[in-house]
Amino acid sequence: MLHEILEANGGLPDRVEVTFQNTGREMPETLDFVQEVGGRWGVPIVWLEYRSYAPFFEIVSHNSAARNGEPFEALIRKKRGYLPNQQQRYCTEQLKVLTAKRYLRSLGWNRWTNFTGLRADEPSRLNKPQPPSCWTVRHPLADAGVSKYDVERFWRAADFDLRLPLVNGKTIGGNCRDCFLKSEAEIAAYKREHPEDRWSERMEALGSELTGSASQAFFNKRWSHRELREFVERQGDWIFDAEGWLCQAEGGECFG
Ligand code: SF4
Repeated sequence: MLHEILEANGGLPDRVEVTFQNTGREMPETLDFVQEVGGRWGVPIVWLEYRSYAPFFEIVSHNSAARNGEPFEALIRKKRGYLPNQQQRYCTEQLKVLTAKRYLRSLGWNRWTNFTGLRADEPSRLNKPQPPSCWTVRHPLADAGVSKYDVERFWRAADFDLRLPLVNGKTIGGNCRDCFLKSEAEIAAYKREHPEDRWSERMEALGSELTGSASQAFFNKRWSHRELREFVERQGDWIFDAEGWLCQAEGGECFG
């Protein structure tokens, strides 16, 4: 989407801000990709992170960006240990949507249009009511009829890309590493590849401690991250082929 905006306007129009909200839980490839997009296409990308104190955001850079979930942990602590989940996705709202809003308001903006990269083949995510806020949402890729195959074709022809696996048009490893909106199979596969990453387990322990209630301290109501990791360690690879074992029919995707 950004590439098309640059093409159509002969560069970035003066009144446009391009932002990236880092949760601290993205894969390193994602951070490198954002940096590379800015450098190769000559676009100033403003790197933002949530902070739990006024003005509730900070401008960072590729060098200083959090890589161990620090902004996310600060938010969980601010919420006194209540963890986000499929029903209460406050992380998207605070770490991404409101962090960008706070930055733009700090520039003196009162009304703006927010372009998102949703495609035409994602109808369930389109046609949502406009937010009752100071911005209007537009989906230029969807308006232009762009599908995931067009996006794949674009990146196959490009001389760089995200360097994360693309499966059926979906970037495995995009967004937060073991986000609760990913399917159980994706999260289990991530745990197999990265047994050293215990951040989500640590947050569930922190949630238990701060809320004093283990039932509030899970990202997923069916299993804890520790249980899933131990399950993956006990079982062999067969669970990744056994349809239904780790199936989650409504796996979604964060797009803030
Ligand atoms: S990717 Fe998932 S965990 Fe990260 S902010 Fe979005 S909904 Fe929350």
